[in-house]
Amino acid sequence: MGCGKCSAICPAAAYYPYDPRLVCTLVERNDEQTLEELLSSDTIWQCGMCMSCKTRCPRGNTPGLLIMALRKASTLLGFFDRSELGRQQKLLLNVIGKNLVNTGYCVSVDLVEPTYHPEQGPIWQWIHTNRKPLLEKLDTGYGKVGSGALRNLSTDDMGELDRIFEVTGGYQFMKMIDESDFLTSKPADQAESTMNLSDGN
Ligand code: SF4
Repeated sequence: MGCGKCSAICPAAAYYPYDPRLVCTLVERNDEQTLEELLSSDTIWQCGMCMSCKTRCPRGNTPGLLIMALRKASTLLGFFDRSELGRQQKLLLNVIGKNLVNTGYCVSVDLVEPTYHPEQGPIWQWIHTNRKPLLEKLDTGYGKVGSGALRNLSTDDMGELDRIFEVTGGYQFMKMIDESDFLTSKPADQAESTMNLSDGN
């Protein structure tokens, strides 16, 4: 119905030229060229996936879920590498996605190396250096299989995670992102674009 309550609550709209109501309007056009432009733009990567829009829609719609579907389509069709924010999927894959698959954690104390993260400061340097005795004292399960917030995941748990990525197509996404070659596949006329959402008015 396009009342715009989703746009009014949307935190991403305060930071980007982004408007969930207009994204919905563009999708409703069901025009192939418009859809390709949307899938090739920064616009679909500007959503913060907070789902605040769900709480406000008087019709029970959730633009955030529509954006999620557009991101999936953009990745499967290979359009994600036509925009700057889309290409950041590659960075996220390397700093979060692969950690998740390899360790069960998006980020872990071992992986935040002070050399690569000087912004963490000297306190983190100390924690990282002394993490083993420190985390043992805090009873986190660090480095051990069993219980605790920082435990190593068991072989069974890692196998379950592996299966989840397999059956949900997670590995397929990762492969497509990993293998995309930005330098050869980015069309010059669509680079770095944020879609002109005023078109949807
Ligand atoms: S899920 Fe996306 S579109 Fe919905 S309110 Fe959050 S940032 Fe905005």
